[in-house]
Amino acid sequence: MRKNIIAANWKMNGSLDFNNNWFEEFYNLLKNNNKDFNNIEIIIAPSFLYIEQINNLRTYLFNKFDNKFKIKLATQDISEYENGAYTGQVSVSMVKDFDVDYVIVGHSERRSLNNENNFEVARKTRKALENNLKVIACIGETLEQRENNQTKIIVGEQLDSIIELCSDVNNLSSNLVIAYEPVWAIGTGVNASPEQAQEVHSFLREKLAKYNKEFNNITILYGGSVKPNNAKELFNQQDIDGGLIGGASLNAKSFMEICLAAL
Ligand code: PEP
Repeated sequence: MRKNIIAANWKMNGSLDFNNNWFEEFYNLLKNNNKDFNNIEIIIAPSFLYIEQINNLRTYLFNKFDNKFKIKLATQDISEYENGAYTGQVSVSMVKDFDVDYVIVGHSERRSLNNENNFEVARKTRKALENNLKVIACIGETLEQRENNQTKIIVGEQLDSIIELCSDVNNLSSNLVIAYEPVWAIGTGVNASPEQAQEVHSFLREKLAKYNKEFNNITILYGGSVKPNNAKELFNQQDIDGGLIGGASLNAKSFMEICLAAL
């Protein structure tokens, strides 16, 4: 089913103090807004080191709201392996010890800085899904690729490799989320226009439906310089189901404004 999701990718930011303060501020904003957030999933993806802390903070917040509103927890990556000699990697069973709901895979920073390719991203996606973790799989073209009219070829190939490997996994349409994140829009302050984003989202949705009618319901998020002042227009597009937010999610007030834009 298509879900309305606002996910925060904190990247390599945060500290014990920062995280505590962020949650305190976010809690106060939630209380004062007095809005019903049950129609959206709010997800935080902190650094692995702070997963336990964020798990405790969200439980505290959950109790404060009479167990009605629970922020979901995500990691920013996952290993494709079970366990063993993979120095620095973190496995699905490890993150499940901390009640993680989602894993992000294939973020463009991992693709470019860690040389992750489409096949590795697809294998990570399958590993997580098979172990009952939900996945936010990121895809997107570079500026050069867009300027050479290759956007649909590139995102099409990135999507194909994931779906081809994972199409037989149970409940794929509810457990897989695709995040379309044009690389040229990430962290640059230049977002895709709502029309540019919608064009790619609608292409992806049609492509998904060709695999299987049910895949038409896969949630597709937009990411890339989403801010409080452009969020509503982007989220209003027919095939955009929410956002993956980097920089603006580090500020609790901005992140709340983006969540409000998705209601
Ligand atoms: C991201 O890194 O996933 C992202 C969307 O970053 P930003 O919002 O800062 O562009």
